[in-house]
Amino acid sequence: MRTQTVDLLILGAGVAGVYAALAAEAEGARVLLLSKDPLPSGATSWAQGGVAFPLGEEDLEAHLQDTLRAGRGLVEEGVARSLLEEAPKHLKRLLAWGLPFHPEPTREGGHSRARVRHLGGDRSGLFLLQGLLARLRSPVLERHLAASLLVAGNRVAGAWVLGPEGPLEVRAGAVLLATGGLGQLFPVTTNPPGATGDGMALAHRAGAVLRDLEFVQFHPTALPDGSLVSEACRGEGALLLNALGERFMPRYDPLGELAPRDVVARAVFRERERTGGVFLDLRPIPQLEERFPTVVASARALGLEPLREPIPVAPAAHYAMGGVKTDPWGFTGVPGLYAAGEVASTGFHGANRLASNSLLEGLVMGERAARAALADLAFPKALEALPALTLDPRHLPELRRRMGAGAGVVRRREGLEEALAFAEGLPLEEGPPDLAARPHLEAGNLALLARLLLRMALLREESRGAHFREDFPQEAQEAYHLEAQGLTLRRVPLGV
Ligand SMILES: Cc1cc2nc3c(=O)[nH]c(=O)nc-3n(C[C@H](O)[C@H](O)[C@H](O)COP(=O)(O)OP(=O)(O)OC[C@H]3O[C@@H](n4cnc5c(N)ncnc54)[C@H](O)[C@@H]3O)c2cc1C
Repeated sequence: MRTQTVDLLILGAGVAGVYAALAAEAEGARVLLLSKDPLPSGATSWAQGGVAFPLGEEDLEAHLQDTLRAGRGLVEEGVARSLLEEAPKHLKRLLAWGLPFHPEPTREGGHSRARVRHLGGDRSGLFLLQGLLARLRSPVLERHLAASLLVAGNRVAGAWVLGPEGPLEVRAGAVLLATGGLGQLFPVTTNPPGATGDGMALAHRAGAVLRDLEFVQFHPTALPDGSLVSEACRGEGALLLNALGERFMPRYDPLGELAPRDVVARAVFRERERTGGVFLDLRPIPQLEERFPTVVASARALGLEPLREPIPVAPAAHYAMGGVKTDPWGFTGVPGLYAAGEVASTGFHGANRLASNSLLEGLVMGERAARAALADLAFPKALEALPALTLDPRHLPELRRRMGAGAGVVRRREGLEEALAFAEGLPLEEGPPDLAARPHLEAGNLALLARLLLRMALLREESRGAHFREDFPQEAQEAYHLEAQGLTLRRVPLGV
């Protein structure tokens, strides 16, 4: 078997992974990145709206308050404050590197001010990632999938990797998970095909804690194929209409179209059920084609003409607030294992992410996690690969259908139980990673996460942020996290 040894192995080459690599390189570390798909890969390159940066000292408190409000009592305030305090340093650096941020910030849902900085019209993520990749000197192995982590006792010390030329064992002083989210658990998602929660599943099997998986943000306005219609469109004047042609958002929230995402997603869900459809009227946006080229192109690809008429929209799984629990420096609690970006749960997003806070988190936490990992390198000798979970991917369409029906925008006990019974009945197999192919590994990871997410969603008998239980519509008085470690699920107070 081919082997390679590095200081820091980074699984994933989206914003969190690449920014982490840049920070590690700057410290002189030997870094290797893996991306299971060709670059530019991951959700980062699909991000449209931009990056939320506080406008300056005087805006820090307001940005924090907006983040806390969206997160519905579940944001770890100290973590959020420290991330936002650090944000301006990163904007300054990115500007100094020549990243083409538009000088005028835009306003997005849940933000009390225009503070989202976009690049390349609505191709913010792609421009950001390309700008970062252009500076990167470390190698990125594309089409290389981490199938399993290598461990020595309870320390993570590398990964067992499936590449086009066969397996590869990467030994590393520390491993940083930057593998993104789990949108592929749902039948309609804005996420790329690779968003199969691999990092969360790898971390779970290494003994890390997974937290708050039940909080999945549904983007309120996706086209029928899952293509995103950016929140920024509503920020710049687009209006939501029901099948009767009525504007309905002001009836649901005083912020109207700019209400937090969960509020808009549920309103869209309800109006679709009530009137048979929901449409977004983009015509009030001046220079629509120049400002939102991706949205216009995605609509046209489906035979829709947004310059002439409102286009049909529906909610789609968009962002995982939960993930691998880390401390504010990206440490997972398992020696040698760090996480940053959407795969992680730092407590920044709480029960619902504020629009455009995720790319910001990827930057800040990417750098922090890289630095923390480098301060904790170890190279144990005897390593073993943890077993991989596999599932025949032909089970996925039905699993997704049941996740959509039971654990979608509106949830209730019966639907969750039905989905869980199905997920638990799936023939998951555990075995050495070298016997499995990518689709089987991804399906295994998704099935594992489905089980955990559904168990958490059942246990959380309240409605909070993105988790809406029709049978428990009220928010519990006290906010708490749910954590899974091995087979144990527990309620944990904030701040722990
Ligand atoms: C359509 C869309 C629009 C969005 N718009 C915005 C926005 O405007 N602003 C904002 O802040 N957020 C936005 N988001 C969310 C944001 O883009 C993501 O949360 C963020 O980009 C995640 O970055 P990441 O680095 O954590 O992961 P990703 O960018 O998803 O990268 C994951 C990487 O991990 C790799 N990978 C995964 N599994 C493995 C494995 N097993 N082995 C090896 N490699 C692996 C992938 O190939 C990829 O390189 C949007 C998301 C979507 C889907």
